[in-house]
Amino acid sequence: MQSQRKKQNFEYRQLCGYRNHPNSNVNGVILEHRLVMSKKLGRALKNGEIVHHIDGNFTNNSPENLQLTTRSDHPSKHKTGITMVPLKCSKCGKEFYREIRQVNTKIKYGQKNFYCSPECGPRFVGNQ
Ligand SMILES: [Zn+2]
Ligand SMILES: [Zn+2]
Repeated sequence: MQSQRKKQNFEYRQLCGYRNHPNSNVNGVILEHRLVMSKKLGRALKNGEIVHHIDGNFTNNSPENLQLTTRSDHPSKHKTGITMVPLKCSKCGKEFYREIRQVNTKIKYGQKNFYCSPECGPRFVGNQ
């Protein structure tokens, strides 16, 4: 059976049956986010390359939520305290990410609408 999902006691999703993939372990088990990233890159991940979850949700393995980083660079992505949260554009419905602190500040000031880009914003004056 290929790509059988296994729930482990930690948060990462694992898939088995990937004996041929360079990033799997000896039992053919691969971490799903590493598999998704290697597909996105079109190559296997190198030693020391780490896949970071942008929104901090280790089970959200959609390609847009994954960022390639390195073992030495990775901790900085967590230490800065920057957490990105997924939002839906109030105008076009597109999903996008914003820093959580930015979002909380807006909510504090009573703002309920979020826009993916200035073009979708309420007061954008531009060439139509
Ligand atoms: Zn990370
Ligand atoms: Zn939009």
